[in-house]
Amino acid sequence: MARIAILGLGLIGGSLGLALKQSRLRDVELVGYSRSRETREKARRAEAIDTIAPDAASAVRDAAIVVIATPILTIRRMMEEIAPALPQECIVTDVGSTKAEVMRWAGEILPRHVSFVGGHPMAGKEQMGIDAAEAGLFEGKTYCIVPSPTAREQAVNSVVGLAELVKAVPVYMDAEEHDSYVAAVSHLPLVVSTALFSLARDSLAWPEMSQLASSGFRDVTRLASGSPEMSCDICRTNRENLVHWLNRMAQELLKYRDLIQSGDDEELLKAFARVQIERDTFIAIGAQRREEQAAVVTEPSISVSDLLVGDWAARRAREMTKALEEQRGRTKKGNGDHGRRR
Ligand code: NAD
Repeated sequence: MARIAILGLGLIGGSLGLALKQSRLRDVELVGYSRSRETREKARRAEAIDTIAPDAASAVRDAAIVVIATPILTIRRMMEEIAPALPQECIVTDVGSTKAEVMRWAGEILPRHVSFVGGHPMAGKEQMGIDAAEAGLFEGKTYCIVPSPTAREQAVNSVVGLAELVKAVPVYMDAEEHDSYVAAVSHLPLVVSTALFSLARDSLAWPEMSQLASSGFRDVTRLASGSPEMSCDICRTNRENLVHWLNRMAQELLKYRDLIQSGDDEELLKAFARVQIERDTFIAIGAQRREEQAAVVTEPSISVSDLLVGDWAARRAREMTKALEEQRGRTKKGNGDHGRRR
């Protein structure tokens, strides 16, 4: 029985445990450690893990794969705690929302005999903690894979395999690329959501205004309900990229202000219409991708040793590509509309 250790059993760590338990992975023991005893016990009761470890170092002893799923700034401390206990050839990965700092810590702290492969599932929600964990959290979501320069190829394939097992879509990226992209599409929305809420909440008219705030306000300010620690860690470890996108956002808002103020209503309508089409297309493509993922090959269960050899991920990628091509072929024929979706 091979061991996978999960350190940090909150939303992401707990969901990963649940998803792996429901996956086709067999002969695996999931060992979990989290700071609070209550969380550890809840995670075991929810069957997100099989065994509780008393501390991080005990969790990783004998582990084939270690997943660090704590808040970003705690990842560094976790690495320091586990470094002396990591077995030879162990694969270490994380799920942190920023990557450049994490990759730097891994290079400084982790021993040479292990392979570090950074990871970031682009999945989440504003609730935190083990109570919010769910097995389907990663389904159809992009999972960024950021290998360290010293990671063995097999180890990289194993982390890709792990992402596949939880039904996510692995995508390779380097850390700088990752941090600059997520600054725009994940971290900027977090700050905008928070700023919008505080702007309205701090208004003297808030008592009356809040009675009118409905689904639109709720949707756009959803991210402001996320973990303050996570938000702060994100800003601290992706400062430069985030400031760049905040400046761009401020300019964009001024552009809309000027357009509204100018009275050029035709231009204003064009601006709204263009963005509506582009966003609807983006949403439709995402839905199509999830549909395709769900319809893709089912294979028999796999063992951790298959996962560790690494061939499995490569083989599955080939099978998925073939299945997708076949499925697209069928869609084209069936629709008679050159593959366009309704
Ligand atoms: P969370 O607050 O739900 O869970 C964090 C867990 O880490 C908690 O169980 C906490 O007890 C544990 N923890 C904190 N300090 C610890 C320590 N010193 N030792 C052991 N355990 C400790 O947060 P989350 O949303 O699961 O986020 C975890 C990681 O995933 C973060 O690095 C975050 O950036 C990343 N992430 C979050 C999301 C999201 O939307 N929430 C999405 C993708 C990635």
